[in-house]
Amino acid sequence: AMEVDDPAPRGGAPPRIRRLEESVVNRIAAGEVIQRPSSAVKELVENSIDAGASTVSVTVKDGGLKLIQVSDDGHGIRCEDLPILCERHTTSKLSAYEDLQTIKSMGFRGEALASMTYVGHVTVTTITEGQLHGYRVSYRDGVMENDPKPCAAVKGTQVMVENLFYNMVARRKTLQNSNDDYPKIVDFISRFAVHHINVNFSCRKHGANRADVHSGSTSSRLDAIRNVYGASVVRDLMEIQVSDENAVDEIFKMDGFISNANYVAKKTTMILFINDRLVDCTSLKRATEFVYSAILPQASKPFIYMSINLPPEHVDVNIHPTKKEVSLLNQERIIEKIKDAIEEKLMNCNNTRIFQTQALNSSALTQANTRKDKGTEVSTPTGEKSQKIPVSQMVRTDPRDPSGRLHTYWQGQTSNLEKKSGLVAVRNIVRSRRNPKDAGDLSSRHELVTEIDYNLHPGLFDIVKNCTYVGVADEVFALIQHNTLLYLVNVVNVSKELMYQQALCRFGNFNAIQLSEPAPLLELLTMALKDDESMSDVNEKEKLEIAEVNTEILKENAEMINEYFSIHIDQGGNLTRLPVVLDQYTPDMDRLPEFMLTLGNDIAWDVEKECFRTAAAAIGNFYALHPPILPNPSGKGIRLYKKNKDSMESAGQADNDLTNEDDIDQELLAEAEAAWAQREWTIQHVLFPSMRLFLKPPKSMATDGTFVQMTRHQ
Ligand code: ADP
Ligand code: MG
Repeated sequence: AMEVDDPAPRGGAPPRIRRLEESVVNRIAAGEVIQRPSSAVKELVENSIDAGASTVSVTVKDGGLKLIQVSDDGHGIRCEDLPILCERHTTSKLSAYEDLQTIKSMGFRGEALASMTYVGHVTVTTITEGQLHGYRVSYRDGVMENDPKPCAAVKGTQVMVENLFYNMVARRKTLQNSNDDYPKIVDFISRFAVHHINVNFSCRKHGANRADVHSGSTSSRLDAIRNVYGASVVRDLMEIQVSDENAVDEIFKMDGFISNANYVAKKTTMILFINDRLVDCTSLKRATEFVYSAILPQASKPFIYMSINLPPEHVDVNIHPTKKEVSLLNQERIIEKIKDAIEEKLMNCNNTRIFQTQALNSSALTQANTRKDKGTEVSTPTGEKSQKIPVSQMVRTDPRDPSGRLHTYWQGQTSNLEKKSGLVAVRNIVRSRRNPKDAGDLSSRHELVTEIDYNLHPGLFDIVKNCTYVGVADEVFALIQHNTLLYLVNVVNVSKELMYQQALCRFGNFNAIQLSEPAPLLELLTMALKDDESMSDVNEKEKLEIAEVNTEILKENAEMINEYFSIHIDQGGNLTRLPVVLDQYTPDMDRLPEFMLTLGNDIAWDVEKECFRTAAAAIGNFYALHPPILPNPSGKGIRLYKKNKDSMESAGQADNDLTNEDDIDQELLAEAEAAWAQREWTIQHVLFPSMRLFLKPPKSMATDGTFVQMTRHQ
């Protein structure tokens, strides 16, 4: 950090660099450790837990800016330690560098209390066991303001922080303007309460009679969660455990609770403790959310509590000043293990949910229409048990906006349509209940799924499950690593197969993508016929006739393809809805006309099994990750985006010509770049993770060039 005084005139002497006053440096550093009132609360509560407290009470005024007070009944602080308590790097928790490696308590840098004294007024009252009286002392800028004064005290320590950030005007302002930090504080205390179940936490606003968190102390984790998050959360939780047994030197263990398919929430709650420290691990959170959205067709955000234990030397907590975000040794592997375990749990409970959904009765329908998003209490036919069915989860629209010329058909979320789709979902459920055979138990579909298993290539299956994604190799191939070998994988082929398999797996049970405007089939089909080179010798009039016939065929079969594949065609012959085949993924809408033509033309409507196979294949082809229609502009491809083609040819291959920005169609180029970047992102973050979970590679892929093993380097 440096401060610049009187900026030098242009071309004159450089500005003077001055050393900052130490107190200013300390204040800046302190501001990094204590970023907001809630981070001060977290540090203080952790200290109380470290001190072996069984009761921790927090009181907060003005979102913590006016007052934070944390009282505990822990072991207290010796009087002779009080003078150095708030100096930086004083701690009772380690004495040598080596201790850093094995430290188990939460704080170990001795910086929290010191930092608070630089940005607020800190007063500590404490008594140790066997003493007749306690001591009180105030601190400022790391030092005592007065000698410790004897005072009456009950067991433990009380730390009071007043006027936080009084000397940091900008920080105080942004905190005052932004939302009150109190909800964050409540959130922290709630999390601690879930983990430290035998500590009684409470948190209240100053002057309030009632505490906003009151955890009690219990011996059961579920009781603790119930006390803090409520009975409705606990009802939808499943216990989960993972451990790494096969390795000698990597001991890793996870215990926790995760929500099942009935749980409904808009936001993920992830309570993560690693070696008993409350931390964030973004990659683990993402991975977890991904499994949920991939497995539950009506995905809700999950509730997760996880406690992970691993050798302390495997955790690097020092990457962030507030110690919240951690990184782990072998992180990928740990995350993969946890992901697998969650996947297995969810797969099992997902079956249960489908059964329960079918039990929806008519009295629930009225409720379901009005109480969107909240979940609905529904009694099963036996009337024994009440089950929650989230209407918002029955059909979900995907608001993502894909690029492509049909984007006008796309829609964001409008509440009207959501309401309507809720209704449709309810109707579908009633229908499937009255006619259980429709609920996806058709034997031809079952046969097709069995064929997939029968055709599975075990070697490729292992590669797909356990590979590491390396990157895209060219327009069609991606590079992966499995053990020590590299493979090229044809992205178009594998995605086509994945989508085909998913179409059969999700059969009769898709979420829907709603088009912003109904797309007239006749127009789509005409467009497709115009683009189809094999039809170039057919005249316009005949093409129109073909389009009309196909429209009729699709209208005739509309009910079935809607029921099984969630492709919805209205009575006017417009396409209004498409299925979500893979979560977080929408197909390239440039290919929609071609898809409609395939459906109209190539489906064997009258033979059930062939019909399902061909329809699923058509979906597979439409949803596959084809290269974008705009050519790849990277490298020499940029030539294709020159405005004036003649000048390109006459100028030969002169490369410096190409750097002339005026010659390039910037708008088209930007569109192409976005499409290719999006594709690359999707391959890495959607396709490969989903393949790992779902793809059953057929034997043919071992020989048809879909997987190509690269020769090893010498
Ligand atoms: P750290 O927790 O990293 O050691 P802190 O600045 O948070 O650093 O605390 C400094 C020291 O003060 C701790 O090591 C501990 O000995 C003592 N201390 C702080 N709070 C408490 C408390 N509530 N009860 C007992 N001792 C405490
Ligand atoms: Mg501490």
